[in-house]
Amino acid sequence: MILKGRKIRSLPSMPIWEYINEKIQIFGEKTAQVEVETKKEITFSEIINNSKCLSEGLKAQGIQQGDVIAICSENNIDYCWIVLGVLQTGACCTLLSPTYTSREWHHALSVSQPKLVMCSMSVCETKLEQYLETGTIQNVLVWGTGTENKQLPKCCISLKEIIFNSKKTNLMLAKNNNVTEQIENISTMELPAFILSSSGSTSLPKGVVLTHFNVTTALTTSGDYASSDEIALGISPFCHAYGLLLVLMCMCEGSKVVIMRKFSPHIFINCLQEYKVTCLHLMASLLVVLLKKDVLDKPECKSIHHVWTGAAPLNPKLQALVLEKLSKHAVLHHSYGLTETTFTMFTCIVGPNSLGTPGKLTPGMECKVIDVETGKSVGPNCKGELCFRGPLLMREYIRNIKATIKAIDFDGWLHSGDLGYYNEDGYFFIVDRLKEIIKHQGYQISPSELESILIMHPAVLDAAVVGIEDKTFGELPKAFIVKEPDSSVTADQIKDFIANQVSPYKKLSGGVRFVNFIPKTTTGKINRRELRYYIEKV
Ligand code: AMP
Repeated sequence: MILKGRKIRSLPSMPIWEYINEKIQIFGEKTAQVEVETKKEITFSEIINNSKCLSEGLKAQGIQQGDVIAICSENNIDYCWIVLGVLQTGACCTLLSPTYTSREWHHALSVSQPKLVMCSMSVCETKLEQYLETGTIQNVLVWGTGTENKQLPKCCISLKEIIFNSKKTNLMLAKNNNVTEQIENISTMELPAFILSSSGSTSLPKGVVLTHFNVTTALTTSGDYASSDEIALGISPFCHAYGLLLVLMCMCEGSKVVIMRKFSPHIFINCLQEYKVTCLHLMASLLVVLLKKDVLDKPECKSIHHVWTGAAPLNPKLQALVLEKLSKHAVLHHSYGLTETTFTMFTCIVGPNSLGTPGKLTPGMECKVIDVETGKSVGPNCKGELCFRGPLLMREYIRNIKATIKAIDFDGWLHSGDLGYYNEDGYFFIVDRLKEIIKHQGYQISPSELESILIMHPAVLDAAVVGIEDKTFGELPKAFIVKEPDSSVTADQIKDFIANQVSPYKKLSGGVRFVNFIPKTTTGKINRRELRYYIEKV
């Protein structure tokens, strides 16, 4: 059975920057974004003007359609106009996380092969030297406070020079002759806008190519996520599809975005008070932190009317606790999606009767659940792999035809790699990543289920569960635990805590190990690739 999302009447065919400019020009001198740490502000008009200037400057340097430009930065108020400026040249942005290690940075660059790298002053000061050690990058454009006064590394040029002084500066970029002529007429359905990292929690990340059409299609639903009287907290990383689309949606609808570069409960509370934030966009992992640190109880949280979470599992018990804290003044929304689907595929308002579901299918999309063995689609309440089809599917994995063909089949279905099911009312439920399911004596155990129970233990700060090989049972679930500071909880107490809440086959028969941290991806998902590496090494 194929489930269909609500029909979308018409889909935009213009490029992203044109779509956004058209939407935001009516907001003129209204503040679009403010940066908590520096108190700097930017208006909607400034976003339009800055991006135009940047695009002209880059074009004068030979950047054109078909090129790729890498952007590496923490969230800040320059991020959006820089992205829009790059897109206006016809080039595509690859967004790199500022948390990348040198190895991850080089992998991302080898996948996307950018012609030019741009980074914030903060990345330049903290990371660039190690990033550049083994690479072949000739020029890096740097923006942010301090570029005028500080001595930048040799290969760095201040972005201001490119914008205001473009004739004098020569970036020595290899020019692709005739490229413009050849590809000018590419439709927005084909034209790459972003290359983003796939979650890569089990294997090395791939470069997900999202087109202008993918992004503008997602933006057409932005009315649900933002409105002009909203003040949103922009803390989800802009280099990830979820954070990026949310901040672009806020722009399109005229919401003000309060940008926090780095999270701390103290700054968070101050920021709610100072800016009267009405709307939070949070990775699920951050919501757990807010709950565990009792931040949601503070009177400053009363200004919040909407909390959007997604991009990772959120346990129903935790949802219930969050609802309890927020229900008098805010609505909790939960959603599910993949970078490969541009934005969310399921979304819903969480209520006492809808705990545990990320909701119903996004407008314009189709979904089916297929039996993992036979590949045949199954009906309600039967578990299988979730597959999606429609205008939000990525174009491809860049330079990886094999992986693209494996992910998107002949009939255009994206195989998500997630195990899930839907009920008679069309609400979906996610069980786990197929590859992460622990196979124990013929039973299937979801690490997420055990992790979500472990995190509820008062002495547990963070937890991850993986299957370890066993000759007799196939795999055994083993827990890695970060204790709360000063806690004296023992492995046996943790085992008992789980044993009291699950069927016997799900017990932590692989043991419990206390660790200092759980490796995570940019969006707070457990990085099982790193965790396995750690298990094998230590
Ligand atoms: P990414 O490409 O980094 O956005 O990661 C996508 C993956 O995150 C999905 O394939 C799921 O495994 C996981 N994910 C996203 N949202 C949810 C959710 N609401 N519940 C459970 N898993 C989720």
